[in-house]
Amino acid sequence: MIRKDGMPIESVIDTIENCRYCLMCRHIASVEYVTHKETLSPHGWALVIASVQRGLLDWDQDTVDVIYSAPDHGNSRAHCATQQPLPEAIAATRAEIVKLQRAPTVVYELDKVLREYGTPFAERKPGVVAGEGEVALFIGDEAQYLWPKAVKASSDLLASLGIHPVMIGVGRSNGYLASSLGLLDTAKKLAEATLEELRLSSAKRLLVLSPGDYFTFNQLYDERLGIEFPGDVELLELTTVLASNLEGGEISFKKTSDTTSYAYVDPTHAVRVPDRHAAPRQLLSAIFPGNAHELFWRQERAHPVGSTGLQFTKPDIAEKLTAARLEDARRSGAKLLISDDPGTLKQLDSMAEKFDLQVKGLYELLFDRLE
Ligand code: SF4
Repeated sequence: MIRKDGMPIESVIDTIENCRYCLMCRHIASVEYVTHKETLSPHGWALVIASVQRGLLDWDQDTVDVIYSAPDHGNSRAHCATQQPLPEAIAATRAEIVKLQRAPTVVYELDKVLREYGTPFAERKPGVVAGEGEVALFIGDEAQYLWPKAVKASSDLLASLGIHPVMIGVGRSNGYLASSLGLLDTAKKLAEATLEELRLSSAKRLLVLSPGDYFTFNQLYDERLGIEFPGDVELLELTTVLASNLEGGEISFKKTSDTTSYAYVDPTHAVRVPDRHAAPRQLLSAIFPGNAHELFWRQERAHPVGSTGLQFTKPDIAEKLTAARLEDARRSGAKLLISDDPGTLKQLDSMAEKFDLQVKGLYELLFDRLE
């Protein structure tokens, strides 16, 4: 049984065999942390897959439920001494479950809307690419529909640097969600549509608004979909670009006199981009007078909010993950939470009031303080 696309089944088996009795990344396992269930841990997921492969279990409602409870945010791989690609093995396993028509009903419903609209967040077709330029900005569906303030603020910040990017992927998912759910063909179609827009834009730099977008273009397309990101295009997170311009003096911000204690919340997928943690903190320290707090689960050990596929397949777990981030922030003493990723912001904001916290987008905050 060799897959014609995506991760070869031998690699899935190798990974699963390595993970099934290993507890070495358990300390960082976010879903086990919020559910207290060992089955919902990296080794728990691997053991269930290995048991199905050995014929000891079948893909029935219980086992499928377990596999669709995995978060796919990258902590296991980021903390694995041998870099086992467990999230990729789980995504490949889900693709097999989808083919067997045994995935949860919601997965097939999502497939339909992703094919029709390119997003589960609006019943609207994605925008079309207009014009050409040196720089493109990937908007995606989360910024467009979940936190639209980020679209205008990021574009205004770039304009202040004399950069007028071609907007691509406006209202279209980057393909991560489809890939994560095991919808391989749909993920490929979404990826190809965005890369075609990138080609039409003639851009040689692609800027993205979140580490999730960066991971998807930089790693997921190649590893999970067998699609190569163009080698002549430089991929950068907007936070990195702004921080480097701040350092070079090309951009500056007015300090606020607001002494509200704040914390930067590392977004879902932040652990997948290990060099990105300093830039947003550097930008915030340029506008706040030294009142930063830090969450316990931060930077290389950041947990996700419920913005992955779990918000559809296991909304109860997604809610627990978001609540745990907010509780972590509340304990840190912060009153104001700031993040850059639109999906993370939407989740935090949906429950922040219960924790007596305020949520703001990094890009809007920076634009407001632009000198
Ligand atoms: S990802 Fe690595 S550390 Fe985690 S269970 Fe697998 S082998 Fe162990």
